Amino acid sequence: MPSMDIHRNDTVQVLTGADRGKRGRVLRAIPDKGTVLVEHVRMVKKTVSSKTGQRTQGGIAEHESPINVSNVALVCPNCGPTRVGHKKQGDTRVRVCKKCGSELPTKK
Ligand SMILES: [Zn+2]
Repeated sequence: MPSMDIHRNDTVQVLTGADRGKRGRVLRAIPDKGTVLVEHVRMVKKTVSSKTGQRTQGGIAEHESPINVSNVALVCPNCGPTRVGHKKQGDTRVRVCKKCGSELPTKK
């Protein structure tokens, strides 16, 4: 199974596109597709049509759409958007900031 350096609940900054520069929390990581869902990033409007015979109102719903992980950077608490490195800590592999070397723990 492919793994990604960006996990759920990470804070990331968008590097490309209309939402460039925006920061948000990762709502969902989808390693199979190499994409993440970032809060308030790449919002798309979806028209919800009312079905005939039903009393539901048609309208527009907004929701996030997935963005490729290569288009976002993990935000280090010390130095901002950064690339992710790794180091071994006992039996576990931890993520570290490539700029300042501080650990970037996965938030539960
Ligand atoms: Zn750092």
